[in-house]
Amino acid sequence: MKVPFNKPYMVGKETEYIQQAVASLKISGDGIFTKKCHEFFEQKYAFKKCLLTTSCTDALEMAALLLDIQVGDEVIMPSYTFVSTANAFVLRGAKIVFADSQAQHPNIDAEQIEVLITPRTKAICVVHYAGIACDMDRIMEIAQKYNLYVVEDAAQAIDALYKGKPLGSFGHLAAFSFHETKNIISGEGGMLVVNDEKLIKQAEIIREKGTNRSAFFRGEVDKYNWVALGSSFLPSDIIAAFLFAQLESLERIQAKRKYIWEQYAQGLQDLPKNKGIGLPTVPAYSSNNVHLFYLVCKDLAQRDALILYCKEREINLVFHYLSLHKSPFYSSKYEGGKLPNTDRFSDCLVRLPLFYEMTDQQIAYVIETINQF
Ligand SMILES: *Cc1c(COP(=O)(O)O)cnc(C)c1O
Repeated sequence: MKVPFNKPYMVGKETEYIQQAVASLKISGDGIFTKKCHEFFEQKYAFKKCLLTTSCTDALEMAALLLDIQVGDEVIMPSYTFVSTANAFVLRGAKIVFADSQAQHPNIDAEQIEVLITPRTKAICVVHYAGIACDMDRIMEIAQKYNLYVVEDAAQAIDALYKGKPLGSFGHLAAFSFHETKNIISGEGGMLVVNDEKLIKQAEIIREKGTNRSAFFRGEVDKYNWVALGSSFLPSDIIAAFLFAQLESLERIQAKRKYIWEQYAQGLQDLPKNKGIGLPTVPAYSSNNVHLFYLVCKDLAQRDALILYCKEREINLVFHYLSLHKSPFYSSKYEGGKLPNTDRFSDCLVRLPLFYEMTDQQIAYVIETINQF
């Protein structure tokens, strides 16, 4: 039985909505479906301002522009993350200061942030890995004490909560992804959430090539002009039409993913005892948005062996991330200390297949195969 790592799921209405967008003859950015998506997020999660972008990467790049990151400014973030988290700030000339992960979870260890703060620190960018919340009370407390901005890389954190409050609503800014590997997809796609009222106007300007075009369309100015540094970050309404179809089915998609996640958690519960392989942990302050199910092997050799064992049985397991502080691009620029928890997750973490259309047979086969390993 073949089990791919991921299979993008279409809810069925995507092409119908795309046809509606096309028929409306307004297929550039900020058309009807973009507005519907913005409203969906602003109403459901009480985000102050939502702006669809072409990717989460773009939303993070917008964030770096919005915070006016300058050459030499320092941004604190985990090393165990996707490259875009760091790239966005490096593009503006920032120095990245990497903090270690928690021992129990790949998320940034909030207790290791304060010692990394210097007079040049401008922002903390946290990543809610696997949709599990970072310790936001502690992180916001540190940010307030030192007057720092907080950006949430919420790429994996749709429909996730910290102490009952939606992730993406804590930081001054937050970035979501709708890449086809995430829970809710539009192929490529993302969203910037602006929670700091003072940044909303500027966010609209940056997203519209540095012009005050949005204000012009609202009739607030009588002509639009080049008023700031910006770029083109807004997606076509065709993308938004696809996304809106997915958002309408959010609860159904989440319920099925939760079912698969719980089958795994139950079926694999003896792995720690039998093989020394760790299961995912969810702190009491976090919900579980079931973005991914991962295992933490004892070491690199065991992980390689497990991936190979499953591959020979047509199950595709995938590992990530290679620590950014050790990457070919950044290692020579990195001046910080060792990050042992980051290195451990980088060597030992492996993700299991988890997608909407997984059959009960596939789920059972993955569990059985891993237990036999
Ligand atoms: C997927 C992901 C991104 C990038 O999202 P895109 O929409 O593909 O640009 C950034 N950060 C994290 C943590 C991610 O998982």
